[in-house]
This record gives sequence, structure tokens and C-alpha cells, in this order.
Amino acid sequence: MILTNKMLFKQFLKDHKTLIFCLTLLSLTYFICFLIFRVNYFIFLYPTIIFYLIFIIYCCFEYNKFKKKYLELKQILNVDVDQIVEIIDTQAFDSMELKEFYKIVEKIDREFKKLKNQTKYQNNKLEEDISTWIHQIKIPITAMKLNLEDIDSNQSRELKSELFRIELYVEMILNYFRLKSLSTDYIFVKTDINLVIRNELKRFASEFIKRKITLELHCETFNYVTDEKWLAFVFDQIISNALKYTPNGGVIKISFIDDNLIIEDSGIGISSNDLPRIFERGYTGYNGRIDKRASGLGLYLTKQVCDNLNIPIQLESKLNKGTKVILDLKNTY
Ligand code: ATP
Ligand code: MG
Repeated sequence: MILTNKMLFKQFLKDHKTLIFCLTLLSLTYFICFLIFRVNYFIFLYPTIIFYLIFIIYCCFEYNKFKKKYLELKQILNVDVDQIVEIIDTQAFDSMELKEFYKIVEKIDREFKKLKNQTKYQNNKLEEDISTWIHQIKIPITAMKLNLEDIDSNQSRELKSELFRIELYVEMILNYFRLKSLSTDYIFVKTDINLVIRNELKRFASEFIKRKITLELHCETFNYVTDEKWLAFVFDQIISNALKYTPNGGVIKISFIDDNLIIEDSGIGISSNDLPRIFERGYTGYNGRIDKRASGLGLYLTKQVCDNLNIPIQLESKLNKGTKVILDLKNTY
């Protein structure tokens, strides 16, 4: 909020109240002394008037300086925190108080930059450690998958399905860190969306079979300029939600209408209370609370990736009827 001229002038008077009070007191003392000793008032009056005129001119000058400084400082508040000290450096502070304040700001700035660098270093280190850990955990997952490939029993199917869930979560956490990292690279090339969808659906095939969920796929070949890997991640998250929140025997429909990739399920739907917050980090809503394994990161990351890919994402849902996710691909030609 910027103070109005009236408020600023009031503040100026308030800041100089001691000086004004002392001068008034001094004038009054003179006046009373002259009165007591019956000295001619005019001897007092003329210098006082001249003095007050000079004082008013001085106040106008000071007020202008005060206002200018106020507006300059107000502007500094809009500047990025990293640049504040450099900008203050260019200011001329004449009061002792401001000079001392400036030293305090400088000290806080130094500490802030130190802390920022430390946090950056720790985050990079954590990211590196987790990436190593993720790559290591992928080895036993692949080994277990290979071992289970030749066994066909209820138990092995159950184990494969659980292993697939682990794999999805491992991929999710890896992408979480990639997304946070500044060096995340996107490779935008002409991509056959239909092919991406079919390849990803293959990974979910056994889940569809196990849960007796019907897949309706109405997709032809479409080429869009996008990043295949990240688009596949988005698709995986949406499909895994559709599977997770659709009871056995339900239907998942994938269609393509007017540059929109639509993924619809006949699942439990999302309540209108939860819908506005569904893309928030860690928000699981009512459905997520039923499924204790929900982390609420899937749609948050999906939204971030969609923003980076310039693909608007929309989610419509009716409780007990189903959910529809619309990916608008028209910007990706
Ligand atoms: P995670 O993806 O981390 O395993 P999650 O699936 O619960 O957990 P999100 O993918 O972020 O988290 O989804 C957020 C919430 O949105 C879910 O907890 C659920 O309440 C709701 N939701 C998302 N998709 C659907 C869907 N197709 N049907 C019903 N509810 C859904
Ligand atoms: Mg999810």
C-alpha cells in the first residue's frame, strides 16, 4: 500500500514531532519571559516570524526529500530479493539510523545467500543420492520381473501386479526429482501419440485383465510436436488413477476429438469439494483417503509436466459416475 500525500504529511509531522515541540516550547518561553519583564512584544515578534518562515521553507524542503526517499524505498520492495542490496547500494542515506539499518540489511542478505547456497548444495546432493538409489532399486525389480515371466499362477500374477506398482512409484519419484532439477531437458519432436498410448497401455495390460476392466480405444495415428517421454509419464499417471479408482468390471475409454486426448473412466468419481484442489501437491481428497497408499503426487506432477509441455489439462468428474481427463494438444503442432 502506498501512503497518500495527506497520510505521508502526517507521518512527516509525527517523525519531526520532537523538533516541532522543542521550537514551540522555546518560542513560548521567550514570549512568557518578554511578557513578565514587560519588554516590547515586537522585539520578539519580528525575529520569531522570520524564524518560522525560514523553518517552514526548511520543512517543505525536508518534506520533499522525505517523500522522494519514501517512494524510492517503496520501489525497492518490488525488486527481486537478490537485487535488493545492490539497489540499496546506489541510494544515498544521510541519516545515521538508515545507515545502520542498511548494515543490518547487508548482514541479513549475506546470511540469506549463504543459506540459499547451502540449501542448493544439499538439494543437489539429495537428488544425486536418490537418483543413485532409484537406479539401484531398478536392478532387483527387473530381475524379479524376469524371474516371474515364466511362472503363470495366481500368485505370480499378483506379484507381477505389485511389482508394476512399485515400478510406477519408482518412476514417479525419479521424475519428481527431474522435474525439480533446473537441468531437466525436454526433447520436442514430432511424436506419434497413438503409438505412445499403445506402448504405455501394454504395460498396464495385465492390470486391465486382472481387474476385468474393459478398454475402449478410439485412437488413430496422430502426430504432435511434444516430448515423448514426459507425455508417456502424464498418460501413465492418468491411466493409473483411472485403474485405481474404477471398480472391477468397469470401463476406461480413450478417444481423440478435435486435438483433445480424452481419458474417461466409469469409476467412483471425485466429489465437487475435492475437484478444485485435485492438482495440489499431496492432495488426495476423499478417494485418496480410502486408498491408504495414495500419495497425492501423481496429478500434481502431471499438471507441472503438462504446463511445461504446453498442454492444458482439464478434469471433469461426477461422483459415482466417473472421471474424464482432457489433454488439449492443439498448441503442440
Ligand atoms: P498417487 O498418484 O501418488 O499414487 P493418488 O492417485 O491418490 O496417489 P493423484 O494421482 O495426485 O494421487 O490424484 C489425486 C486425487 O485425485 C486422488 O487421491 C483421488 O482422490 C483423485 N482422483 C484422481 N484421479 C481420479 C479418478 N480417475 N477417479 C477418482 N478419483 C480420482
Ligand atoms: Mg495417482
